[in-house]
Amino acid sequence: MPPLVDPVPGGHPGDLARAHALAHELSAQGVRGIVLAYVDTAGICRVKTVPCRQLHSAVARGVGMSPVFDTFLANDAIVRTDVLGSPDGDLRMYPDLDRLVVLAGQPGWAWAPVDRFTQEGAPHPGCGRTFLRRVLADAEHRHGVTFRAGVEIEWSLGRAAAPADEFVPATSGPAYGAIRQIELGDYTTDLLAALEAQEVPVAQLHPEYAPGQFELSTDAADPVAAADRSVLVRQTVRAVSQLHGLRASFAPAVTERGVGNGGHLHLSVWRDGLNLHAGGDARYGMTAAAESFVAGLLAHLPALTAVTAPSPASYLRLRPSQWAGVFTAWGRETRETGIRVVTGTAGHQGEDANLEIKPVDLAANPYLALGCAITAGLDGLGTAAALSEEVTDDPARLVPDEAVARRVRRLPTSLPQAVEEFRKDQVLRNALGPVLADAVIAVREGESGSVAGLDDAGVAAAYRWKY
Ligand code: GLU
Ligand code: MG
Repeated sequence: MPPLVDPVPGGHPGDLARAHALAHELSAQGVRGIVLAYVDTAGICRVKTVPCRQLHSAVARGVGMSPVFDTFLANDAIVRTDVLGSPDGDLRMYPDLDRLVVLAGQPGWAWAPVDRFTQEGAPHPGCGRTFLRRVLADAEHRHGVTFRAGVEIEWSLGRAAAPADEFVPATSGPAYGAIRQIELGDYTTDLLAALEAQEVPVAQLHPEYAPGQFELSTDAADPVAAADRSVLVRQTVRAVSQLHGLRASFAPAVTERGVGNGGHLHLSVWRDGLNLHAGGDARYGMTAAAESFVAGLLAHLPALTAVTAPSPASYLRLRPSQWAGVFTAWGRETRETGIRVVTGTAGHQGEDANLEIKPVDLAANPYLALGCAITAGLDGLGTAAALSEEVTDDPARLVPDEAVARRVRRLPTSLPQAVEEFRKDQVLRNALGPVLADAVIAVREGESGSVAGLDDAGVAAAYRWKY
């Protein structure tokens, strides 16, 4: 199904027959159950499963779930908004058959992302996947643009047998070091094999900076596919880690100190088959539209942080000089600015040029993060916003007056500050709609409340194994 075609309750013509045939095929391959996955407002992937024989029923009438999960916190406490958080009501989860894959790291299981509808067949206003599709359809309709996206996945790999849920790195090798690759050679081979079997186009896998940290990136895809893929990659990393007696944490900060786990978004805007970040007359080959898109992102970045860095633990990661990009600034290949302009290798700019949005972690719901980032950029594109001067080197070195003159702001340093910015941002809130926007606020406030009184080490520990 092309990404912009909304699913319909009961399936598109032919879907039921397809589900029957697929279930048969899956059973013949030894698959017993299908994981139906979605990501809640707090960024936790939650699931229901059905046996293969029920796949057609899931396509025909959906699988039931309570709307209460939209206001779950990472610790499973429940907060409320005007419309969400009550024990009443039911939603239907519809699997996307086009994205169904057999899970190579979990023999016996297949996986599919879902869209959520009301029992009456209307899209659920709290469904992040539906929100992202709506943003994309609107972008195409109003601005004639489409997008390519990717979500980088960083994780800290620990030993599963570590005492008292502590983080004990699975390898002692240095950052980016060959020792890590060698010590975990079997693990990484199995991970690549599983992802290949699931047809996930891995671009790179490397040992990262922090103790036990790895990173995996995938080829660019349409944003819904990119978000789905980021969920699937994490499911696979987790499963393969477990098979090796290891435990993966995608938490923004696995400990209170040092470099955290990012989930940078890569994004490019396209019109009429052309990449607007290359071949243009503006800086570094950007078109005027691409520059304005960056300007829109920068203007909304403080509020966006409430969506892209949604956990109290996110603010242990979002610190200067850690390559997490905590300033409203951009630079070509600058790893300390909020937006890194990636121009691509000479001769390949047309395919490769893109933006990297850095203040994003994997506590973020990827559908909401991409949908809000695109909304922010389009606000700039639609108003032909002027892009500030480039910042090179570490913006943390700018003296305060210079930072003000160059419109370089430090991003929120706490979740409550991010929520304050988000409350003021009508553009993001309107795009999300009141149900999702209120859920974002309520869940973030709930998370902040749940860590009241904890020191940094306590906050890191509270979320260490949640994401
Ligand atoms: N781990 C860094 C972060 O938290 C990112 C490192 C990199 O640039 O890949 O964002
Ligand atoms: Mg990295």
